[in-house]
Amino acid sequence: MSASFDSEKRNHRKLGTQLELFISMEEAPGMPFFLPKGMVIRDELEKFWKKEHRKAGYQEIKTPIMMKQELWEQSGHWKHYHESMYFSNVDDQSYAIKPMNCPGAVLIYNSRRRSYRELPIRYGELGLVHRHELSGSLSGLLRVRSFTQDDAHLFVLEDQVQKELHNVLDLIDVFYSKFGFRYKIELSTRPEEYMGSIAMWDKAEEDLKRVLQDRNADYQINEGDGSFYGPKIDFHLVDSIGRSWQCGTVQLDFQMPEKFNCEYIGEDNKVHRPIMIHRAIYGSIERFMAILIEHYEGEFPMWLAPVQVKVLPISQAQMDYALQVKNLLENKGLRVEIDDRDEKIGYKIRNAQMAKTPYLMVVGKKEMEEGKVSLRNRKGISEVLILENAIQFIIDEMRK
Ligand SMILES: [Zn+2]
Repeated sequence: MSASFDSEKRNHRKLGTQLELFISMEEAPGMPFFLPKGMVIRDELEKFWKKEHRKAGYQEIKTPIMMKQELWEQSGHWKHYHESMYFSNVDDQSYAIKPMNCPGAVLIYNSRRRSYRELPIRYGELGLVHRHELSGSLSGLLRVRSFTQDDAHLFVLEDQVQKELHNVLDLIDVFYSKFGFRYKIELSTRPEEYMGSIAMWDKAEEDLKRVLQDRNADYQINEGDGSFYGPKIDFHLVDSIGRSWQCGTVQLDFQMPEKFNCEYIGEDNKVHRPIMIHRAIYGSIERFMAILIEHYEGEFPMWLAPVQVKVLPISQAQMDYALQVKNLLENKGLRVEIDDRDEKIGYKIRNAQMAKTPYLMVVGKKEMEEGKVSLRNRKGISEVLILENAIQFIIDEMRK
């Protein structure tokens, strides 16, 4: 099998349409529309994200999509990022649509006085950002103009930096292993256009290097590819057919706290400056979904599958029983559909297979009379089981 053929049947745009996950429309180029089934996957990814971040001591925030021009001038985005931003004018005030979530998180940090006892503060934000990518480079969910970053901004004391970086790297392991991804690490250093002093940059680069060395991590140096405000560690996922995709990032930043005058009162009762860590794990939910679609070739694990079980009555005579099966499954919290069309069973099965539904429950006259179902997996292997046992089997699969 050639690589291109394999890539083609995994193509997330093709599968996105076939599985009814998302669509792209002329009315908003590069800004995908999510369909109900795509929303289920998004929602599950976000639920998992929220759960793991709560466990790791993060607090969630939400900051506005557009904020006044002066804020972006202060943050440096106006100078260093202007060409990728969208703008708007309201009441003779100039606003920018946020291309990054950082300034919003800083405003919340600065909204009151902070003590060293509160640090580290870890603000997580599933923040919708807009960036003006060239129209020629747009592609499905991979290259878009609006996307949700699974962002977080940590405000830490100097002697907390190493530990917090390790914690972030641990969390990244939790996420990527959940999906069966291996990953490669790159350390991106000072770019040509940068903010702040070279001494600060050198220190930040050293800090990141030390964490990677402490973990005995293999990494490559990517000279000059850091953000304008700091160096970063980038994570490149390796998918099921060996392709790599840049997703997560951890950035160490001494500049933004300076620009925004972030402070805390130290143990010595004096005013100090915290250090900021920016980080994302999925990178963007949209892009991560594109990668997952291709990684799984549309065959999502149970917890992500938009429809987990499809009930297929062989004829209208089994419709009541099929509805009963559906209700029982739904009461167990499963996502279920029923194919009640007056079509041949072979046709219905093929349809459900095209939709890559993990489990089908076929019910005919015999199954109905015996209180059973014919349970069929994606590989086409089927087994007739007592309904109760079939449901239990599905629930066990769900927990895997
Ligand atoms: Zn940030």
